[in-house]
Amino acid sequence: MKISPVTKIVGVFGYPIAHTLSPLFQNAAFKELGLNFIYFPFLVKPQDLKKATEAIKALNMVGINVTIPYKKTVLPYVDELSPEAKKIGAVNTIHHCQGKLIGYNTDGEGFINSLREEGRFEPEEKNVYLLGAGGAAYGISHSLIKAGIKSLTLTNRTKEKGELLLNHLKRVFPQICPLRFIEFHQRNSPTLLKETDLLVNTTSVGMNANDSLLINPEIFPRKIFIYDIVYNKNGKTKLMEVAEKRKLPCLGGEEMLIYQGAVSFEIWTKRKAPIKIMKKAIREKNAKIPYCR
Ligand code: NAP
Repeated sequence: MKISPVTKIVGVFGYPIAHTLSPLFQNAAFKELGLNFIYFPFLVKPQDLKKATEAIKALNMVGINVTIPYKKTVLPYVDELSPEAKKIGAVNTIHHCQGKLIGYNTDGEGFINSLREEGRFEPEEKNVYLLGAGGAAYGISHSLIKAGIKSLTLTNRTKEKGELLLNHLKRVFPQICPLRFIEFHQRNSPTLLKETDLLVNTTSVGMNANDSLLINPEIFPRKIFIYDIVYNKNGKTKLMEVAEKRKLPCLGGEEMLIYQGAVSFEIWTKRKAPIKIMKKAIREKNAKIPYCR
């Protein structure tokens, strides 16, 4: 990568940011397509988010990804929202276009694209069970409902937040498919799991490699598809390890990371993202670290 007077700058705002893998695969993708772009991780403190977002214009950057904890708090600082980001109420990608900052949310699209492309799983007419009701759960549940799932069951440790998501979905998608919230202490219901085609973990449990499992794997039915959107320094969470051991179809957080990043890449560059190269960059990183797969 040669930095020149015309190098275009993109990156990610987060706090913390040291764990991010986005620079690795985004820079590999720019290099592959010969694009004079550089992707940089920015540690932005909460009190500096407004100034940092204004700097996208001041420094003539092309755009930015926004990660934990800013996906909602950045909303007042962008000029426009894509229809999707407006409905979800969160932004993970900003494009600086014709003097304006446009906010997008690529989490849901990245999730569904990876589910179909990498998991070979078609969500239409499937019963989905989603753990968590944080920022990621919003984009993912939107994309699942839009993909035509049969039903969605939610649970969340904090009941109020779970019900907030449920009511949000009922408002945005009235009468599309059965939506329900179950109490967190009922999350291991064998009847529920028996009916589940797709289980998605969107809680942050698993970020720490020692985190214990939220769901008892003994009651997983034989054909359930497990998608854990979390990744950790091992690359794989305990939930993924169990799913692989049980030979269940499954996908992990690195897949979603790449596919949501690919949508951001395409917004910024108007070029098709080289998914294979992005995956290779992550694979090589994992191979270099002895405790990774
Ligand atoms: P968030 O808004 O902070 O939400 C965190 C969620 O996890 C909440 O539902 C929270 O429940 C739950 N939670 C946290 N600790 C828990 C525990 N000990 N037991 C049960 N539930 C717990 O975060 P987010 O933005 O939604 O992100 C969630 C995870 O997804 C993070 O690990 C993030 O890195 C990952 N993620 C991955 C991708 C990807 O591309 N692979 C994209 C986005 C996010 P309460 O409401 O009770 O606090």
